[in-house]
Amino acid sequence: MNDCIFCKIIAGDFNTDFVYENDYAVVFKDINPKADIHLLVVPKLHVESLNELEDEVLLGKLMMTVKEVTKKEGLKSYRTVINTGKEAGQEVFHLHIHILSGGII
Ligand code: AMP
Ligand code: ZN
Repeated sequence: MNDCIFCKIIAGDFNTDFVYENDYAVVFKDINPKADIHLLVVPKLHVESLNELEDEVLLGKLMMTVKEVTKKEGLKSYRTVINTGKEAGQEVFHLHIHILSGGII
């Protein structure tokens, strides 16, 4: 999607450092962290939100990506959050899973 900030990040437009990447997703640090460690797991495919996601296999792969990156980063305790819809606090309309660990605000 042309004006989607996360699609631009995935395309490398901002030279964002990826903490982790696999065939389906990239993981990068949240620009406005709400915990000591705040990562975003973002599918390479543009899907607006969980409401628009129809691919259950992709959903499983995204959750496995959470496991992979937290293992790689040595995180044993963390919270995962998916905000869906403006009223629930979704600001970026490209599906993403927050990973929050340590000193969560
Ligand atoms: P949400 O409110 O669930 O849509 O979360 C969007 C998250 O993306 C927020 O926590 C923002 O701080 C984060 N964010 C927005 N723009 C960027 C960016 N360019 N790089 C990293 N994180 C971003
Ligand atoms: Zn997008």
